[in-house]
Amino acid sequence: ATDTRKIAILSVYDKTGLLDLANGLLKSNVRLLASGGTARMIRDAGLEVEDVSSITKAPEMLGGRVKTLHPAVHGGILARNIESDEKDLAEQGISKVDYVVCNLYPFKETVAKTNVTIPEAVEEIDIGGVTLLRAAAKNHSRVTILSDPNDYPSFLKEIEGGQVSEQSRQLYALKAFTHTADYDSAISDYFRKTWSSEQQIPLRYGANPHQKPAAAYVKEGKLPFKALAGQPGYINLLDALNAWALVKELDEATGLAAAASFKHVSPAGAAIGVPLSESEAKVYMVHDIAGIDESQLAQAYARARGADRMSSFGDLIALSRKVDVPTAKIISREVSDGVVAPDYEPEAFEILKKKKGGKYLVLQFDKSFVPPAQETRMVYGVYLQQGRNDVQIKADETFSNVLVPKGADKLPESARRDLTVATIALKYTQSNSVCYALNGQVIGLGAGQQSRIHCTRLAGDKADNWWMRFHERTLALQFKQGTKRADKSNAIDMLCSNQVPASGVEREDFEKNFEAVPTLFTPEERSSWLSKLSDVAVSSDAFFPFSDNVYRLGRSGVKYAAAPTGSVNDGAVFEAAGKLGITFVEQPIRLFHH
Ligand code: 5GP
Repeated sequence: ATDTRKIAILSVYDKTGLLDLANGLLKSNVRLLASGGTARMIRDAGLEVEDVSSITKAPEMLGGRVKTLHPAVHGGILARNIESDEKDLAEQGISKVDYVVCNLYPFKETVAKTNVTIPEAVEEIDIGGVTLLRAAAKNHSRVTILSDPNDYPSFLKEIEGGQVSEQSRQLYALKAFTHTADYDSAISDYFRKTWSSEQQIPLRYGANPHQKPAAAYVKEGKLPFKALAGQPGYINLLDALNAWALVKELDEATGLAAAASFKHVSPAGAAIGVPLSESEAKVYMVHDIAGIDESQLAQAYARARGADRMSSFGDLIALSRKVDVPTAKIISREVSDGVVAPDYEPEAFEILKKKKGGKYLVLQFDKSFVPPAQETRMVYGVYLQQGRNDVQIKADETFSNVLVPKGADKLPESARRDLTVATIALKYTQSNSVCYALNGQVIGLGAGQQSRIHCTRLAGDKADNWWMRFHERTLALQFKQGTKRADKSNAIDMLCSNQVPASGVEREDFEKNFEAVPTLFTPEERSSWLSKLSDVAVSSDAFFPFSDNVYRLGRSGVKYAAAPTGSVNDGAVFEAAGKLGITFVEQPIRLFHH
């Protein structure tokens, strides 16, 4: 008599719940076939089970490497309820398999152990189990695949009632596909770490020193950068990747060398290579750099670094072109964490690699690298996926819709250039963000604030501070011999942002820096000088929700503003711009960045 019982194949590494499952299956009159260890456990419990070899007629071999890999098994799993498949099975004397129960060798656990050898890891690469899972999941329209012991009880309940529903089979199949995918990525992760320095780079640590281990990797192709010197940390790389994208885009949009100075994943400065005036060279502390007049890249970095010298302290620098000696010389005497650029002149590299006792991070980025269109990250155990923000800001097109004043001409080239700098900077700045720009550089950037007006104020105050540095009294400050560059910058920042107290220890500390103690600016002197700031361009990463933002712009010499529209207050915002003589253009793309 032919055996009409349904058939289950069981091959599990994790034997949790196995005996209850076997018992339940037998009660439902299912014939059990199992691989070596699985069969042994069931048999030892006094339950009826056959070895898989009873249908394969082939013994397990190669020390367990081949157990279930056989047409009798996989033909039985993969066969559909169609005539040609039935015919094939009949010819080979193979019975259909209805249920497959399988979970895989503990590859992850094994490689997580310290000092695991490659042969040990290799032996944990499950072959037949993956095939069982995949075959059964593929044929889910007929076969049930159980890969998670947690599912055994509800499965047993279903078969007691007669059959497994289509929905359950689908969900079990999804689990199986996920199980094999996760398993395969654990294997490729391990070998990427073991064999491929081109795909994976260890990081010093994560966002904080206790967040270890940390790494950066790609799953396809090579990492788009190499560390020529130093070892990056996690935040260094977040900075480098954002800053590189920024300067590459800025260079492409303007045709000029571009530079950015990043801190905490937002630019402290960003600029293109516009020649420096004498006072700019002085304010940015680069007047003594030989060859700067001939190097667009050095000019760009002088501007990026000079915009907000205080914030740029310890920056991660991105440069859009091959680094030359003047640029390296500027970097060499500033406190900085690292630099990313497409290439380095040998002499420039020699200068950079000596920084920080040889620990200075020098990254070389592959200019031709184009990141994939979809990007994924994990936050608190949840994957987030989105299309990459690959919209292009174009100096000629993006700022062509002038809203205020009505019927105005196209913006002058310098305004379009500055709006391009400001807007591309925002594209790589933590939101909310507002950016003031002039002379091809960021002069004030407000990042990461929860309210837009706070960004507008922060950026505006930075722009004011920047401008106060050009006051003749600031330019004439006499520091004591040997005052460190950072201390000079901090003292200048205190003076320019009106932070010097009238008396006390802080005042004394401030005064210690100077050969001749400076007179502070009176409110009248400040407002008189600030009123001379003009032609500033401002961009916002989203619409201005209230006209207070525009009023704040008006206090820092803003002539051009670009922002998306769509606020219920657009009318009031435009009206305020009109009253203040600010040309308001539509920047049609919202640019939040996180
Ligand atoms: P058992 O304890 O039953 O001997 O082995 C169960 C494990 O073997 C399961 O984790 C299953 O994924 C795996 N397995 C099943 N068939 C094969 C095979 O043909 N080759 C290999 N390498 N592993 C298999």
